[in-house]
Amino acid sequence: MISPHVANRTFLIVGLGRSGCAAAALLRRHGAQVIGADDADLATLAARWEAAGLAGQAAGAFAELLTEQAWHRVEPALLHAVVLSPGVPPDHPGLARLRQAGLPVHGELEWSSRFFRGRTVAVTGTNGKSTVTAWIAHVLASTGCVSPALGNLGNPLANLADQLAEDAVPVIECSSFQLETIETFRPTVGVVLNLAPDHLDRYPNVAAYYAAKARLARQVAADGWFITWTECPAALAWPTSGSRRLFGDPDTGAVAWYADGWLRVQHAGRSHAVLPIADLSLQSPPNLMNALATAAAALPLVDDPAALVRGLSTFGGLAHRHELVGRVGGIRFVNDSKATNVHAVCAGLRGYPGPVVLIAGGSGKGEDYTPLRDVMGSVRHVVTIGREGPAIAAALAGAVPVSSAADLPAAVAQAAALAAGDATVLLSPACASFDMFRDYRQRGEVFAAAARALGAGKD
Ligand code: ADP
Repeated sequence: MISPHVANRTFLIVGLGRSGCAAAALLRRHGAQVIGADDADLATLAARWEAAGLAGQAAGAFAELLTEQAWHRVEPALLHAVVLSPGVPPDHPGLARLRQAGLPVHGELEWSSRFFRGRTVAVTGTNGKSTVTAWIAHVLASTGCVSPALGNLGNPLANLADQLAEDAVPVIECSSFQLETIETFRPTVGVVLNLAPDHLDRYPNVAAYYAAKARLARQVAADGWFITWTECPAALAWPTSGSRRLFGDPDTGAVAWYADGWLRVQHAGRSHAVLPIADLSLQSPPNLMNALATAAAALPLVDDPAALVRGLSTFGGLAHRHELVGRVGGIRFVNDSKATNVHAVCAGLRGYPGPVVLIAGGSGKGEDYTPLRDVMGSVRHVVTIGREGPAIAAALAGAVPVSSAADLPAAVAQAAALAAGDATVLLSPACASFDMFRDYRQRGEVFAAAARALGAGKD
């Protein structure tokens, strides 16, 4: 651990969302002075904190709040360092002066990792991060380890970094935005699940987005492991200080793979059959890959293939990711609201069992929708919603029938009629939700409520 030495030093936290508030509270607990900075006005911030359950944490954390443009004029000489929240672009004009003055600018992940001495697992990738983070945490917990799932999926490391016993193993979901500024954070296990174009609204090109992810490979501890997928050529080429372990294709050197109906791992020079595929608790095609990633990442920490079985067969999955929210007659309603990019939708639809009526659309991130054409095999009809609806319809023209709906409940009603008693109505939007909803969770809840309004129930 790098001794944080934060007492009596002044930090500027830029971006006062979940991780900004958590970082502020952590630094405050250790005697720092914390100035909070955000472009929003005070009333907006207060409403946001209230809605997110952060009001209590924020109340005690800040010595001063600089809202709207006020923080752009802060005196750099007053500050020890800047903590940048993942939602604030690193080229924000307000930061230029602070950088020019030589102030270090890091994210919450870098700062909070300085307060924890033990082993950590860090998970990134374009899709599946939350699922795999939670699944690894579940596998480790099933062996008796204290292994909270933290980071991007909702609970920042800052909330627990200084509270965990040293033998705990936090499993941290890392966004590319958090990885951009890691410097002393050295995870024991670093996982890159997959890479596909995403966040092109934030990065100038795909290479810049991948470069942020590549920092994780470089930062893995020298006695640690860098885990990635055999089908991810970019990540296979990244330099890492740890030992490289792959999952996927055994012919390309994977240590976790499928053969003859079993999940198998390589351990201590031998191949072990861990459990039958049918016993894995999540069975969708992307989740079969996620199970391999989970096994490969957890194995170095549990050091026994048999110790993986319980956690791999009992993980319940996460809401809004291929979540069955109800059935009515032969129609299943599946909520994959978290599919906010084309890659996630394609992974979910490839090899989908049975006919699907797909609901897609929302706000765009600069993606090309034509790859969706390749996964329309099981799709009977697409109902589009939101700002990107016309672009999706244009990309799918001639491949599948497409219609549009004014809002999500109308789309669900239309899709249910088109499902004709035997198809799955799948919300898998390939888009962000911000044109119509607060976030993907609200979108998923509206979908589930619309399904229930049509009589869908769990049994
Ligand atoms: P992330 O945290 O990276 O956004 P999630 O676990 O929340 O990942 O899943 C996001 C979306 O990606 C969901 O639609 C999910 O079904 C899909 N997904 C999950 N795992 C994978 C994978 N290994 N490859 C592609 N898509 C996946």
